Amino acid sequence: VQLLGKNIRIKKNNRKLILLFIFLFIFVVLLVGRLVKLQILDNVFYAQKAASQQLSVSITQPARGTIYDCNLTPLAESATMWDVTVSPSNIKTDTLRNSIADNLSKILKIDRQTLYNEINNKSGYVVLTKKIEKSVADQIQKYISSKKIGCISLVVDSKRIYPFGNFAAQLIGFTGTDNQGLGGIEAEYDSVLKGTAGSVVTAKNATAGNMPYDIGKNIPAQDGSNLVLTIDEFVQNSLEENLKKALQENHVSNRVTGIVMNVNTGEILGMATEPDFDPNNPFVVSDTTAKQKLSTFTGDALKQATTLALETQWRNKAISDPYEPGSVFKIIVAAGALEEGTVHENDMFFDPGSIKIADKTFPCWLAGGHGAQTFLQGFENSCNVVFIEVGRSLGALNFFKYFSDFGFTQKTGIDLPGEANSIYIHESDLGPVQLASCSFGQSNKLTAIQLITAVAASANGGYLVQPYVVKDETDSSGNVIKSFGTTVKRQVISSATSKEIDNLLEKEVSEGTGKNAYVAGYRIGGKTGTAQKLDASDPNGTVTSFVGVAPCDDPQYAVLFLMDDPHNPVSDFGGVIAAPVVGSIMADILPHLGVQPKYTQAELAKMNIKAPNLKGKSVADVTNLLKSQGLQLTKIGNGETVTSQIPAAGDPLPKNGRIVIYTGDAKAANTISVPDLIGKTPQQVNQVLSDAGLNVDFSGTAINDSTVKAYLQDHTPGSKVTPGTVITVKFRNEKINVQ
Ligand SMILES: [Zn+2]
Repeated sequence: VQLLGKNIRIKKNNRKLILLFIFLFIFVVLLVGRLVKLQILDNVFYAQKAASQQLSVSITQPARGTIYDCNLTPLAESATMWDVTVSPSNIKTDTLRNSIADNLSKILKIDRQTLYNEINNKSGYVVLTKKIEKSVADQIQKYISSKKIGCISLVVDSKRIYPFGNFAAQLIGFTGTDNQGLGGIEAEYDSVLKGTAGSVVTAKNATAGNMPYDIGKNIPAQDGSNLVLTIDEFVQNSLEENLKKALQENHVSNRVTGIVMNVNTGEILGMATEPDFDPNNPFVVSDTTAKQKLSTFTGDALKQATTLALETQWRNKAISDPYEPGSVFKIIVAAGALEEGTVHENDMFFDPGSIKIADKTFPCWLAGGHGAQTFLQGFENSCNVVFIEVGRSLGALNFFKYFSDFGFTQKTGIDLPGEANSIYIHESDLGPVQLASCSFGQSNKLTAIQLITAVAASANGGYLVQPYVVKDETDSSGNVIKSFGTTVKRQVISSATSKEIDNLLEKEVSEGTGKNAYVAGYRIGGKTGTAQKLDASDPNGTVTSFVGVAPCDDPQYAVLFLMDDPHNPVSDFGGVIAAPVVGSIMADILPHLGVQPKYTQAELAKMNIKAPNLKGKSVADVTNLLKSQGLQLTKIGNGETVTSQIPAAGDPLPKNGRIVIYTGDAKAANTISVPDLIGKTPQQVNQVLSDAGLNVDFSGTAINDSTVKAYLQDHTPGSKVTPGTVITVKFRNEKINVQ
């Protein structure tokens, strides 16, 4: 009997299959009864007894579909496993029972006595162990065959494997012990992925195992479909890496969340929240802080706290947790007011430091106010007073019209479970005071997916598209069964207004409070946000965020990043701590996505060169060559010929950098301790690294002057490196105190 194939005949004690079993059992009983009546002319009682003992319905399990990223990298796949079942009532002798206990306890590494107790009874069906690997199943099969034992069965099962561990955990979700989808795409598309079980009716021989007994009612299993996502493994990975760094660096109390979206199609290329979990072990609390908290509980309190911690780690907060957008929302107010013509870029405003609406005084975030400024400047300054006036000019009716048209009163309809709606002030409650606070991004709580979708609409020519994560459903050969495309819900603003928004966003990064999102070679636009949380439980908490769009002359991608309650000792302002994260993600993903950089002369002047190949050359030649290229030289060893070099040939090197050559028997060794560069200006960093015999790379840095300070270095202080190593340092302006 071939038992280890994919569609072998199996028996499964599955609650979901009981109904099917009963149905087929009745069918079999009736059929056999009929046969008996017609052909054997025996009594019905005997026929039923024979059927219950010798015929059984086996279920053939379908394979669960694979989940791929947009380039067909598998993100979730199923491996075949086996369950071991025994029918104790069919063990007729003590000798056989002892033999089974001896052999199976060894193969399965289960205590012999425990195993013996399990099979020493009259029950019809016992699951000894679940999800064993093929090598173990083969050993059991060998034992069954050699002794011709019919009371042990190997039942095909499968195990879901997530090859990248924590990767996109909340988005992909996970499966339960019966391979049912329990979260994310696994749950949303469970009916598509799981396939349909088949069945085979077999006659059972107590000593020789299953014997095929074709009664013409075999139904083959249908494997589940595969899903191809819009998620790009490279983009998701960059997003997660940047999120993890930000979570740690900014001492974020609750969570960091990010989304990367194609603004024209609605495709989600990346969606992540940190901390996350491992879908291979979803019932393990993954985050160390959460784990530490759990260790303070016992008994029922521990159970409750564990449930809460698991639910928290599984929740896709990018779509489920509304938050305060703060100044990022000013994009939407600007779009509405520009579209209605109640404000123009060059309209003049005056901010004396506060504005009184009805009986409430709203201060600008800048003490003393911004004074006279155009609307464009007011946007760059993120001036609350300007936006309160713009909101007033728009009026409650129109404000709510755009709030609604940009999609904030409804869920986006993204194809993921657990999407929440926003928490907002309805039109009928929008008095002058409420309108004022809503106009600068307070009072309403929106989800990250709602916000990035609205920003996409404001930037892409005005079209509100539906975000989505599943692109194609395919069969096991990769043929597309069903494709999901772009859904445009409506045009919210004209393309002309959208161009004005792109211009505002670009100016914000090139000149305004978003300059820390700068990426050399790319026209990035964006807006910062820093909002007081509305939660009574966290009255001092803030949400710091940044949304970026690129490239501004033809917007294609948006990146939204938010930190729920950061505690960075330097600053809590979005322009300082959130903008660089979006810049860093853009710098990674835009070249990958085929967006070509266009460098300015100033950027070209700062760019790295590639280290020339010096190996085998004479020291005299190398000295002349490097001098002519404006590079510095350190020679180690007493030989006349270069044997190796740092940086290696082809590696990036700053224009006036240093190459260390090794001659004779001298070998590169980690002899230099990397200095601590955090908080230093570019000039200071240059000096410190040069003195240490190291190179610095600040090619991606926004402004090379004394207003910026180092906040990230790619080699930790104190680590040992070889002379000549290039240390990449990231800088940001820390004086952007703008909400
Ligand atoms: Zn102001």
